[in-house]
Amino acid sequence: MIVLSGPSGAGKSTILRRLLETYPDRLRLSVSATTRSPRSGEVDGVDYYFLTSTEFARRREAGEFLECFEVFGRGHWYGTLLAEVTPSRNAGKTVVLDIDVDGAARVLSRFADVLTIFLRPSSMEELERRLRARGTETEEAIQRRLEVARRELERAHQYQFQVVNDTVEHAVDQISEILTKQGIVK
Ligand code: ADP
Ligand code: 5GP
Repeated sequence: MIVLSGPSGAGKSTILRRLLETYPDRLRLSVSATTRSPRSGEVDGVDYYFLTSTEFARRREAGEFLECFEVFGRGHWYGTLLAEVTPSRNAGKTVVLDIDVDGAARVLSRFADVLTIFLRPSSMEELERRLRARGTETEEAIQRRLEVARRELERAHQYQFQVVNDTVEHAVDQISEILTKQGIVK
């Protein structure tokens, strides 16, 4: 299992998309569930399982989550479904989890064999620029994400590897090198 964390807007989805295209036989993305609304272009079951708060709570009570968390407060829940990480579903592939630092800590407390990578923006200014350029969040949500980003960056040292997303190519190359050294991809 691989856990990739990093502030919202750091480029996790962008980098993961590239890695999954490069290593389709070796890697599989764990699709998380969330109660936030889909962004334009996001597809249910591909980017997330978009659930109502009631459905999310029902699944939580039924014990269907490996971990779940109200990532930015304000009532938006995110969670990794146990079904996404079962070996039968993944047929020899390494599962990649794009989750926040609290979720990562919970996964580490339950599984021993986890590779952890933290994706950093080149600076807070660049992070803010990317979040704005993505154009998917309200001003309040951007401020909230920047606030959470500062706290997440303070916990980056808990990860085995830190990669700076200066350019997409460079970050993808660095992560590919880590995965190759770990024997996850060839
Ligand atoms: P995350 O999944 O971490 O929230 P995204 O992958 O959605 O972040 O990236 C946030 C925004 O920044 C997107 O608009 C994306 O196209 C852009 N982006 C990602 N990586 C880079 C990069 N290296 N240089 C410039 N823009 C980037
Ligand atoms: P976004 O709303 O930008 O897609 O994601 C926001 C944050 O939620 C990111 O930091 C992402 O890593 C985190 N996240 C996404 N899915 C999960 C999950 O299943 N569990 C946890 N704990 N965090 C998640």
